[in-house]
Amino acid sequence: MINVDYLIVGSGLTGAVIARALADAGREVLVVDRRSHMGGNVHDHAHPSGIRIHTYGPHYFRTSSDRIWEFVNRFSPFYRYEAALLSEVEGELAQWPIAGSFIKKLVGERWEPEFKGQPANFEEAALGLMPRRVYELFIKEYNEKQWGVPSNTLAARLCTRFDVRLDDEPRLKPDCKHQGIPELGYAGLMEGMLRGIPVLLNFDYLKHRDSVRARRLTVFTGPIDEFFGFDLGRLHYRGQRRVHEYLPEVDRAQPCGQVNNPTHAGGPHIRTLEWKHMMRPDLAARIRGTVLTREITYSPDEPSAYEYPFPDDHNQRLYQRYRERADALANVLLCGRLGEYRYFDMDQAIARAMVLAERVLADASVVGNVDALPAV
Ligand SMILES: Cc1cc2nc3c(=O)[nH]c(=O)nc-3n(C[C@H](O)[C@H](O)[C@H](O)COP(=O)(O)OP(=O)(O)OC[C@H]3O[C@@H](n4cnc5c(N)ncnc54)[C@H](O)[C@@H]3O)c2cc1C
Repeated sequence: MINVDYLIVGSGLTGAVIARALADAGREVLVVDRRSHMGGNVHDHAHPSGIRIHTYGPHYFRTSSDRIWEFVNRFSPFYRYEAALLSEVEGELAQWPIAGSFIKKLVGERWEPEFKGQPANFEEAALGLMPRRVYELFIKEYNEKQWGVPSNTLAARLCTRFDVRLDDEPRLKPDCKHQGIPELGYAGLMEGMLRGIPVLLNFDYLKHRDSVRARRLTVFTGPIDEFFGFDLGRLHYRGQRRVHEYLPEVDRAQPCGQVNNPTHAGGPHIRTLEWKHMMRPDLAARIRGTVLTREITYSPDEPSAYEYPFPDDHNQRLYQRYRERADALANVLLCGRLGEYRYFDMDQAIARAMVLAERVLADASVVGNVDALPAV
């Protein structure tokens, strides 16, 4: 039996930030992870060609918080990288988010939203924001591929993630102050964050609960439904299969790092990534060939493949039932994207973990009720 004051289950950003804060404050911490590597879903690895691949999909780091930027730069310098995406529509590559000039070209200067009022579903919300033609080309089938259901059964609130532009700004997030990718790779960033803290890999806490005990607090950052043995039912997630292709004779196969493939006619994959674009240009220039990765969305049963929480009311209600049970537990804190069944960008995951760590340090008995935390 291993005894430790603070046990952190999961070495992703949430677990690692909490572990770092506790260790910096002199607390005894052990991190365990069931994967063979640390870092959770931000992990990356090198293809034999030397090209750096983000193992669980492309990760663009961005934040407007100086505090978060200084925090991550403690563990790795970053090079500037501002994602600019394209979408393949009708055999051509168009800017994503959709450029104002493209909308004008498609439907003219003046158009009226087809839907007005309170939208009952995603399709209505989208038609309140953009012309039907634009919706059909860029949005409808992309979301059907992403979520595996018809667009008019998805929640209207998903539309808040769209940025419908009047101008032709090509960058995905032009207003974010700090943007980049770690020089040491995300794997190096996460190794740095956890340096000096004991980390046990290939250790599934749920299978070995009896062999490790936290005297003060267990922080669990895995799936909340799995923690409770799925006994109220399974929360629905979407995951992605990634098919990699190395082209030794091609330097660049597409003009940018990410091309979305938003239509069913464009193939089963939802986006095509070319990692070389995301590398530091001088390092990329020395590499022969290129790697393309096509991502195909599906509904995984295996919890380690869970990526996106499913955006509907049924799953939110089920999550709330698990959450009530989690909040009633003594000395256990369930948090992070899987513990809170919520999509967090990396900076949001870090900010939230910082707030949690501060609360834990203030009083280790104050756990549970993550929803009562201040917004990040
Ligand atoms: C496809 C995709 C693309 C993304 N792109 C971006 C992006 O461009 N920019 C951005 O800011 N954010 C992006 N994100 C979000 C980012 O991945 C998350 O913010 C981050 O992973 C959250 O970290 P976490 O620690 O909460 O979860 P995770 O990284 O999932 O960490 C949880 C860890 O817990 C471990 N674990 C689970 N159960 C157990 C168990 N029983 N025993 C032991 N260990 C366990 C897991 O193995 C995992 O390592 C993206 C997410 C996805 C899915």
